[in-house]
Amino acid sequence: MYKREVETELFCVQCAKDSLHTVVYINGIIYKITCETCGKIVVNGTLSKEVYGRLVERALTKPKRMKQEIEQEIKLGELRKMMRLPLRMVSKPFRLYHEVEGIKKLEKEKPMT
Ligand SMILES: [Zn+2]
Repeated sequence: MYKREVETELFCVQCAKDSLHTVVYINGIIYKITCETCGKIVVNGTLSKEVYGRLVERALTKPKRMKQEIEQEIKLGELRKMMRLPLRMVSKPFRLYHEVEGIKKLEKEKPMT
């Protein structure tokens, strides 16, 4: 299992300002984004590589330009959760489900180092 952590500045809805976030990738898929100021976990385990992976990669290489785009995606994600309308999740290919299940399984079997 390949784990990578990257630090970048993103907007935190809880802090209501830009703050340092730690982005954790597992096997190239974003697993978690944590606000280092308040500890809020912005996203956790249920992200698609296609949606968030690309956005964060681009945000990390071009932070200023891409920041708004990723923030919008995060806000949309939170909104969907709040509204309990996981329409995109339902229509996602099963591959995503298997990726998430795979990570969960790995977490139980092997502690992350
Ligand atoms: Zn925060």
